[in-house]
Amino acid sequence: MAIVNENHLKLPGNYLFAEIGKRVAVFKEQNPSAEIIRLGIGDVTRPLPMACIDAMHKAVDDMSRIETFKGYPEYEGYDFLINKIVENDYQKRGISIGYDEVFVSDGAKSDTANIQELFGLNSRIAVTDPVYPVYVDSNVMAGRTGEYIDGKWTNVTYLPCTAENGFVPELPKEKVDLIYLCLPNNPTGTTLTKEQLKVWVDYAAKNKSIILFDSAYEAFISEKDVPHSIYEIEGAKEVAIEFRSFSKTAGFTGTRCAYMVIPKELKAYTTDGSEIGLNRLWYRRQATKFNGVSYIVQRGAEAVYSEEGQKQVKETISYYLTNASIIKNGLESIGIKVFGGVNAPYIWMQTPNKMDSWAFFDKLLNEANIVGTPGVGFGPSGQGYFRLTAFGSKENTQAAVERFKTRLKV
Ligand code: PLP
Repeated sequence: MAIVNENHLKLPGNYLFAEIGKRVAVFKEQNPSAEIIRLGIGDVTRPLPMACIDAMHKAVDDMSRIETFKGYPEYEGYDFLINKIVENDYQKRGISIGYDEVFVSDGAKSDTANIQELFGLNSRIAVTDPVYPVYVDSNVMAGRTGEYIDGKWTNVTYLPCTAENGFVPELPKEKVDLIYLCLPNNPTGTTLTKEQLKVWVDYAAKNKSIILFDSAYEAFISEKDVPHSIYEIEGAKEVAIEFRSFSKTAGFTGTRCAYMVIPKELKAYTTDGSEIGLNRLWYRRQATKFNGVSYIVQRGAEAVYSEEGQKQVKETISYYLTNASIIKNGLESIGIKVFGGVNAPYIWMQTPNKMDSWAFFDKLLNEANIVGTPGVGFGPSGQGYFRLTAFGSKENTQAAVERFKTRLKV
């Protein structure tokens, strides 16, 4: 008799987006002529940079000739892409990363979900709250999180990030082994300074914990004192894995390419206290479970680093950041308190009068025909907040802000 992994049964359904879809469908049925604007989109909408398209066309041609045809790619990625990553994303910032410390993959979602496989089932995880749901759910599937009671897992340490603490998580009271940090943050759009991040690196060093640092939104950083990589912090190579993605950087959400850095210095332990290098452990895991990212896609990702590619990527990021500032400024002008939107495509607004997140969702949909995402869907500390995104068109973003000003009865 095949018995299922019952940990999967513990997962609450994908309540957030299913519930949003349901409420929007009901509203549309009752208001067929309403023109809905979606500011809840977590996906990019602008096309790929032309430099990437050209590179991929060329790579398709390579596949047609016996001399240039490629079969299975390397598990860790092609040298041509890894070299560009190391030189542009690290060396240019004064960070030394080895070429064999980079692992190219099909997405930061799979990387951040799969990395927990390297760690013992008794490891205690800590997550910022609110949080990108993949970190917690992948640990639920593995059986690491205990029971789900009142919106929280009993074996997970939640690190609240709210307006009260300036979205700076406090160190946990109990000892934790794995710490997920997402900076710039989804959903709050906020960041930490180098000094604030150093507190976590020091904590991890002291407690032999590991930081899983998701910087999928690094390309949106526009302020000077915000670290682009955790390895800008002294000692981070001994305690942190970094995740990056071409998804939001260069519009690769549908094309799929990302990477992860596991420094050789990074060690975890066996129960008898022996040190184990995680770089080799991950290589072995990938060699078994992953057959690489296609040559065509990696050529496309390589082109992100070309002069043309960089110019085009910056134009797109700037388009989204302009949308973010339109939302931020527009909402602030009518007295709404907002966070993020400067170093990230997300605007995290406090609901008027600290209204329940879902009640505000309904109000915004009914009065202004705008769809956003209730903050509580990202974790208990998201209650009383609401996420808006900058990934729509400029026209729709402007129209939505106008509706906030003229239709919303605050
Ligand atoms: N990490 C965060 C914080 C995200 O918000 C997302 C996507 O929304 C991802 C990772 C997924 O990235 P990818 O498209 O590379 O799988």
